[in-house]
Amino acid sequence: MMTLSEFYRRLLREPFNQLLHHLHLYQPLLQLYLLFHLDRYRNIRARETSSPPSSPTLSRSTLSPTNSPLPPKIVVIVFDDGRKSQLRAASILNKYGYTATFAVITSFVNGSDPQNLSWSDLHSLAAQGFDIECHSHSHKILNNISSTELTQEIVYSQEQLRCNGFNANLFVYPSGEGTYNETVSTLVSQHYLAARGTNIGKCNLSTVNYYDLPSYEVTNTTTIKNFARYLKDTKGNIISIIYYHEIGALGVNPANFEEQMLYLKANGYTVMNMRQLFDHRTGFGSTASGEITKLSLDSSSCIKAKIAINGNRKHR
Ligand SMILES: [Zn+2]
Repeated sequence: MMTLSEFYRRLLREPFNQLLHHLHLYQPLLQLYLLFHLDRYRNIRARETSSPPSSPTLSRSTLSPTNSPLPPKIVVIVFDDGRKSQLRAASILNKYGYTATFAVITSFVNGSDPQNLSWSDLHSLAAQGFDIECHSHSHKILNNISSTELTQEIVYSQEQLRCNGFNANLFVYPSGEGTYNETVSTLVSQHYLAARGTNIGKCNLSTVNYYDLPSYEVTNTTTIKNFARYLKDTKGNIISIIYYHEIGALGVNPANFEEQMLYLKANGYTVMNMRQLFDHRTGFGSTASGEITKLSLDSSSCIKAKIAINGNRKHR
């Protein structure tokens, strides 16, 4: 007969049903006590056995929905192009306890234009809880470019982000183009969990194509009335993705941005970033199709990505 401590150890190691037969060895009172604590130990076991983020490969079966309940009114905020002015929005978001995704163009990060976010900015944003995702390598329109260029824009950009410590499991198509090009969308679906396309509208998470997520752009001409319209009827599975470019003189006035955040607060919206919603390891969503072949890179892949990117730069 095994001891109680051995029973608990095995409980954490083995499926519970395989252990049920051991229960008859104990008094009925003990059985009741153990069943009473079943949920607690099941939870511990679930945490212990959940797949670690460093797992190099994932099978389709692990990409199933998490069944976590969705907050009632979800808004996802995204900043495109990795512009320095967006740091202004980040500080406003922090004030309200809100998050966002920064979809960056990897060749622009630490590039010649100081108005783009640097790697150090991205690390600082990530440390504050913001999400960093991929918006291609050089913002080339993905239709009608060579397969070498496509790999650069979709794959090496992701590898460069990963080599810098960002998961980059989500993609934003440059100018939304390429979602209906099979070569492009296939490559995206092989490397990412979801992607934002060019369609305008809300996402029904039950039916939407995860590689063509619709959204709304908020610009300097977006009135609070329009903003409210983008969010209206957001409920459960029906979510709104809103995206911005510049914040400040060249784009959305920070005062307007703050007014929009106040509107979200006053109306009970839950603000999420793309990763929280679409990354199955951390969020609610599941992939509609496609398998992720890489979630982390070994150092040789990082070197390969650097050579590909630097080599390409020399030829410009
Ligand atoms: Zn863009």
